[in-house]
Amino acid sequence: MKSSQGEPTTYDHGGGVRSLRVPIPDNPLGHTLVYVVDTDRGPVLIDTGWDDPASWEALTAGLTSCGTSVAELYGVVITHHHPDHHGLSGQVREASGAWVAMHAADTSIVRRTRETRPERWYTYMAAKLTAAGAPEEHIAPLRTPPARRRPFPGLAPALPDREIVPGELLDLPGRRLRAIWTPGHTPGHVCLHLEEDHPSRLPGHGRLFSGDHLLPEITPHIGLYEDPDDATVTDPLGDYLDSLERVGRLAPAEILPAHQYAFTDAPFRVRELLTHHEDRLTGLLALLATPLTPWQLAERMEWNRPWPQIPYGSRNIAVSEAEAHLRRLVKQGRAEAVTGSDPVTYVAV
Ligand SMILES: [Zn+2]
Ligand SMILES: [Zn+2]
Repeated sequence: MKSSQGEPTTYDHGGGVRSLRVPIPDNPLGHTLVYVVDTDRGPVLIDTGWDDPASWEALTAGLTSCGTSVAELYGVVITHHHPDHHGLSGQVREASGAWVAMHAADTSIVRRTRETRPERWYTYMAAKLTAAGAPEEHIAPLRTPPARRRPFPGLAPALPDREIVPGELLDLPGRRLRAIWTPGHTPGHVCLHLEEDHPSRLPGHGRLFSGDHLLPEITPHIGLYEDPDDATVTDPLGDYLDSLERVGRLAPAEILPAHQYAFTDAPFRVRELLTHHEDRLTGLLALLATPLTPWQLAERMEWNRPWPQIPYGSRNIAVSEAEAHLRRLVKQGRAEAVTGSDPVTYVAV
């Protein structure tokens, strides 16, 4: 099957594993790779794709071209709660009766998203940004009545009905698929290890569905795990780096990521990413020769375009990422908060 661009939209990876390219509307990432794993009880999906009619069309057409259909699906395993992975899960469940499984930490984010009133979220974000040193003109829009604002996408994501327990085999009759907890990109991100010989006998241990954790050319966003009800000081970048090493040690024969393309040599890619993050942390230390708020640090960090061109929503993500890096540096004892500063500034030690 071909997309309008002429690229194949389904790919047979061998050994009862296929991938479908499910488009993400208006997003430079282009598409999510949804994997279809055959089991004795019917196909199981790894992720579902963005909640959009065109994406649903691509998913269902892809399943048809694999010789099956949504109705035949036995289960859905979600790598993490982001809408390009979990968006269509509710619709898939409705059309098939399939179970939907997710790690408990991401399920609690889904539950929170469904329960949190938008006004509470805006108040929380305004307070967070103020504390991070954001200028008034950036915070002001959050104070306008939510009724006049566009709603967030994916406001009512499907509540999973099964829990992915780290280290355990998932319910895929006739297959061996083990959950590897890889927090960092999200607190409940999991990679799925297919503990079976590689169909082309590539050297290594099975195949790894890596979600957004390990991608061939992209560094996943590592921001704070925002939770209005939890004041725990988390260290998502530290979690991510630990998770990377865990996946490198598995040494899978092939990595099947949720974006871009399948690749080999996970230990090499893991080393590249570890070096990238170490270089970035060292670069930030140089910036922190003078005390900076998280906002000021974000303004000075290197992004894919100059700061003035970064859109509003992406600036919030950038500040969250700057803060995740600051937390790592503080935890490593390489930076510290300046006593008495308000908003709080950080400086290299
Ligand atoms: Zn993601
Ligand atoms: Zn993604």
